[in-house]
This record gives sequence, structure tokens and C-alpha cells, in this order.
Amino acid sequence: MQITFLGTGAAEGIPSPFCNCDTCEHARKHGGRNIRKRQSVLIDNKLLIDLGPDIFASCAEQGLSLCDVETMLITHSHSDHFDPENLVLREKAYRLATDLPDVTMIAGPSVWMRWDEEGMKDQRSQIKRTPILPGRTIQASGYTVTAIEANHHGTVGDAMNYMIDDGSCVLLFASDSGVYSEAVWHELSAHRFDAVILEGTVWGRPSVKEHLNETDFKLMMERMKDIGAATDKTTFIATHFSHQGWAGPHEEIEAKAARLGALCAYDGMSFQVRSQ
Ligand SMILES: [Zn+2]
Ligand SMILES: [Zn+2]
Ligand SMILES: [Zn+2]
Repeated sequence: MQITFLGTGAAEGIPSPFCNCDTCEHARKHGGRNIRKRQSVLIDNKLLIDLGPDIFASCAEQGLSLCDVETMLITHSHSDHFDPENLVLREKAYRLATDLPDVTMIAGPSVWMRWDEEGMKDQRSQIKRTPILPGRTIQASGYTVTAIEANHHGTVGDAMNYMIDDGSCVLLFASDSGVYSEAVWHELSAHRFDAVILEGTVWGRPSVKEHLNETDFKLMMERMKDIGAATDKTTFIATHFSHQGWAGPHEEIEAKAARLGALCAYDGMSFQVRSQ
């Protein structure tokens, strides 16, 4: 399973255009891995997780096309994860030589509500609407996808994380996650992950509701190992960083993540998940 990070920033991205905090100023000055666009992750070139507002820029920069994407998996309706306008570009009127098949879009009720409210049409964007709720499993593009409940976006209530099994490797995609409820820990104890992509949103800040800081990230890692859902061979990757939670260069957060035994994602990072 090949993972490519298109965007590793939280809501505002880094640097936020309307911010001159140390993190944003540092990113402007040094560029490179300090620049974090909003979230999207590509799996094997055919499964796209989240449709952040920077997809155009990420694909242009990384020389990627999304023509081979067969399935889209949306975690929740926050704008850094779901910008329906991206799929206007998939409408026939905006394509030239490309003849695209329908794409399966898997998402919860609040995502579909936004899709409809913003006047998007399944047929025009050639979307096969596939609703999902926590606890449900769907087969798509050769993957077994199971939704679990995230502790995030509580006012709306249907933010999800996904377990993705390609028959040889199992990935847990957990951004945005918050700290899981006991019911979710119980559910996860029946699984074992080869890789876990986990939010590190407010890394350097005291604990907040609905996002993870460094301590919560460590707690999530340790709990997964305690219940057998992860082992010492499981690769943990931190992503979805906010300028609000961390003032420092990429190398610093990378070193801190490494001390916990995790990798730190950056825009353009590619990682091959291998079976344990
Ligand atoms: Zn987010
Ligand atoms: Zn800032
Ligand atoms: Zn969110």
C-alpha cells in the first residue's frame, strides 16, 4: 500500500495568509517541508482520502493527476477535509480529452448535507453516492473500508476515521480523531494495524477537546499497543499540524515525533506500508 501525502496542514494551513506568528513567519522564510497545505492523502493512486481545498496546488506541485482515482473517502465536513468545489473540475464541461468513469464517494450524512447545500450534483461530477456511518464496512476498489467514530466535530457528530485493508496491509487513517471513546478502543482491539496515520494538530499546546497534542498522541499510540491493535512494528505517522499548536521548524517536530517512535509527514511524502 503506497501512501502519498498531498496536504499535511490543519484548517488554516501553514503559513496562514493572515497570520504572522513564529510558525507562519518561519515557514515563509524557509519554505520546503515547513509549508503545509490542507489535508488530502492518496493511497495507491486510486483511493483519495479527504478533499482539502489545496488539491489543485498539491497535484500541480507533485506532478500528480487524479484521473485514476476510483474511490474517495471523506472523514468529515470541516472545510480543510472537504471542499466540494474540487469536484466541479470533474464535471464534463471542465475536462477536455479525459473520459472518466464514475467515482465512488464514501462519506457521512453531514458531508452529503454540505454537498447538497452547495448545489453539487452527483451526476454532473460523476459521483456514486455511498453513505456510511460508524461501524459500517464497505468494499471499494479492492479495499475493505470500515468506519469508526472519531471524537471530533462533536456539534455535528459524524466525524469518522477509517480502517483500510487491501488484503495484505491494514491502515488506520485517524485525522481528525481526538482521543477515542472506550467503545472505539473496544472495537479496535479486534484489529491489528500495519500503519496508523494520526493527527498531531495541536502538538505543542495543552490538551484541547477534539484534537491531539503530543501527550495525547503518545497516549493513543500506547493504548493501541496495549490492546494489541498496534505492535512495535506498526508505523505511526503524525500529520495535520496547525500553526496554533506548534511554533517551530519541521525538523523540530520531526525529532519530537521520532522520540515517540513516529514519523512526521510533510507535503509530498510518500510511504510504502508493508505487512508486519
Ligand atoms: Zn482538520
Ligand atoms: Zn500562524
Ligand atoms: Zn476537523
